[in-house]
Amino acid sequence: MSKIDWINQELDNLKQAGLYNRIRTIESPQGAWLQVDGKKVLNFCSNNYLGLANHPDIVAAAKKATDQFGVGPAAVRSIAGTMSLHVELEKRLAAFKGVEAAITFQSGFTANLATIPALVGKEDVIFSDRLNHASIIDGCRLSGAKIIAYEHNDPTSLDEQIQANQGQFRRALIVTDGVFSMDGDIAPLPAIYEVAHKYDILLMVDDAHGEGVLGKGGRGIVDHFGLHGKVDVEVGTMSKAFGVVGGVVAGNAAIIEWLRQRGRPFLFSSAVTVPDAAACLAAIDLLEDSTQLVDRLWSNARYFKAGMKTLGFNTGVSETPITPVMLGESPLAQQFSRELFEAGVFAMALGFPTVPQGKARIRVMISAAHSSADLDQGLDAFKTVGRKLGVI
Ligand SMILES: *Cc1c(COP(=O)(O)O)cnc(C)c1O
Repeated sequence: MSKIDWINQELDNLKQAGLYNRIRTIESPQGAWLQVDGKKVLNFCSNNYLGLANHPDIVAAAKKATDQFGVGPAAVRSIAGTMSLHVELEKRLAAFKGVEAAITFQSGFTANLATIPALVGKEDVIFSDRLNHASIIDGCRLSGAKIIAYEHNDPTSLDEQIQANQGQFRRALIVTDGVFSMDGDIAPLPAIYEVAHKYDILLMVDDAHGEGVLGKGGRGIVDHFGLHGKVDVEVGTMSKAFGVVGGVVAGNAAIIEWLRQRGRPFLFSSAVTVPDAAACLAAIDLLEDSTQLVDRLWSNARYFKAGMKTLGFNTGVSETPITPVMLGESPLAQQFSRELFEAGVFAMALGFPTVPQGKARIRVMISAAHSSADLDQGLDAFKTVGRKLGVI
């Protein structure tokens, strides 16, 4: 017996159950088409909503900044790692989002790990949507606060939970995803805000899939619902629509200042590199210049979803460019994904534990980078594989 036998056993179990994650390697820049495992395939997987991951202006900005500032920040932000580019990025993000201040982190994941424990602790309570992202769940756990899940996108359930727990905790926080990444549905933020306001509780939204997608020119879910000044904490990421990497928290100046003093990933882990920060700044320039890419993303999404519905696929409850193709069991979803790949379309299967048991799916991520010919080719491949596997 070796002390790692159990790990090999667990890995085998995953393979048996069709839940083993086989990770493909991308050998080309991100875009509508990718080179994957030596094959040219249509990309239906990336979070590169606006096609910015390989945009020439952004690449040029990253190169120029590297010539000027080098690469690494060489220290954590609070010691000697805050460069003028980081400060400029935070100012520009705050202006873009229409808030008082913003602070950046290494990723959206660390933004949640930093923020939640800085706002609530052991004597406090968090009301969290049942389907919140893993990074919110981990941030909640790290805080030591009592975590109470309310029913997904259900402000009435939220209100009931708050009511049932009144007077038992020092402070409270309500936290929700803005766009739920597995189903593509949008949190009913105006109604959630009403509940937060009624009980005077801090409200935090993680807008990772709304940044660059929802609202005017991609300003996010708060702008989408016209809730400026009403949501206390907006978390976002620069790894999705912005096409780069990095997390952001935007909101009230005092909260942002508190995160600079107490956000542990800010204090104990180095910041994003020079080319990252410069690339994010260039992405904001593009978004502020024109809504063209955001408009194209939405028209592509509408076209593809309508095509999938006509073919007879169940695309769930999505209200965004995220297009889940519901298939049921994981092995079917995995087989569907393999067949699509053979047909030149790269679309990953998602199974348990990423989504609930029995709700396995292929998730298609539509991008402004897709041409209408690309979308038609994708629809054709879904039709062929769907018929072959008896799904439609
Ligand atoms: C993707 C995602 C994150 C993580 O963002 P990264 O910048 O990739 O770490 C956090 N929250 C939600 C809701 C996400 O969808």
